[in-house]
Amino acid sequence: VNHVVVVGAGLAGLRTVEALRGRGFSGRITLMGQERHHPYDRPPLSKAVLLGDADTSYIDTDLDALEVDFWPGVSAKALRRGVVETTEGELGYDGLVIATGAEPITLPGDGPQHVLRTIDDAHELRAMLVPGVRVAIIGAGWIGAEVATAARRAGCVVTVIEAGPTPLATALGTELGAQTQRWYDGIDLRLDTMVDSVDEGGVRLVGGEFVEAHVVVTGIGVRPAVEWLTGADIDLHNGVVTDEHLRASLPNTVAVGDCAAWWSRRWQTRLRVEHWDTALNAPEVAAASLLGEDVAYDPVPYFWSEQFGHMVQYAGHHPAGERLIHRGDPEGKWSAVWLTADDALAAVLAVDRPRDLVQGRRIIDAGHRLDAERLVDPEVSLRDC
Ligand code: FAD
Repeated sequence: VNHVVVVGAGLAGLRTVEALRGRGFSGRITLMGQERHHPYDRPPLSKAVLLGDADTSYIDTDLDALEVDFWPGVSAKALRRGVVETTEGELGYDGLVIATGAEPITLPGDGPQHVLRTIDDAHELRAMLVPGVRVAIIGAGWIGAEVATAARRAGCVVTVIEAGPTPLATALGTELGAQTQRWYDGIDLRLDTMVDSVDEGGVRLVGGEFVEAHVVVTGIGVRPAVEWLTGADIDLHNGVVTDEHLRASLPNTVAVGDCAAWWSRRWQTRLRVEHWDTALNAPEVAAASLLGEDVAYDPVPYFWSEQFGHMVQYAGHHPAGERLIHRGDPEGKWSAVWLTADDALAAVLAVDRPRDLVQGRRIIDAGHRLDAERLVDPEVSLRDC
């Protein structure tokens, strides 16, 4: 490989550049990104940046020292074998890294609709979160909950509209989602509520009711940003399909981060994980695979969220779990674990109980079995169950 082109200058793209250099690759690297910014981290956008505690979240890296041709503000439009078509013309490659991440899904309607994906989105939204402003947030998922936290703290009048029966129902299921409902104190939380459209001045619900709002934020999920690959000879299914080495179906091509749907050896299923930890760590494997090494990406996925004063952390893959066991007081610090049919730990969710998260993640990794009887006692550490 002589010239690696990295499409997407988010965390996954940047980390792949670092990993390539870290492995001694001395050829040419071009890193192109649609945004006009130096690569930055997204988790702070809905936390410190939105709360006004930080202005930026740039990743501390020296692009000059990495000897990378950085092309900010350039998008890939299409892919032919060996050639990326960009907004600045064609670019040949002999190694390709697809790291285009994901983009927010929006709702129908002519009204102004904010999303929160980029640093520009965060700055725009932050300026609007002032006392007394009516904010309607569509979606009580991870992003919706964090935006609601910031809006409430800013003194806004907050409505959260959620299609499911509880917050976080899609991510965690309704049983645990319901335990987060009490955090929405002072917020008008509308559950089982479908949005018809975002209109001038607010949100039209299915059934006709109109929720007035000065600011509407849509946080209903993202889709992998792979439209530019339509028509290319590459397998796409819920993102770029890769094997366990993060190799895509085209030669000399890897995909990494939010856009990659990789084969998980551990869970024997295809996973696409839209979390920071994956964008941070998968690039080591992507870089190695591109350079012809034989390594697999086989992590216990990890994620955290900070909402309503709580630290929520998750590790594992709970669809592999069959039994949900609660630990601790739902009014205070609590956690929950999912066990497989043969009592192995499939996933752990910890609310303000970081030790359960750390120990749980290790236990999942090791594949140990646990004693369900002991698990229900929150005083017994997971390690001793
Ligand atoms: P991205 O960060 O999306 O980067 C992809 C880049 O590619 C983008 O800059 C995009 O503009 C660019 N691009 C797209 N298409 C093209 C194209 N055709 N040509 C050129 N460039 C292109 N995860 C957690 O684990 N915990 C959290 O608390 C958390 N909070 C989050 C809060 C917010 C507001 C957001 C948005 C995400 C959060 N995440 C969190 C998720 C985490 O940030 C993502 O998983 C991570 O950013 C994925 O990195 P990536 O590099 O794969 O994709």
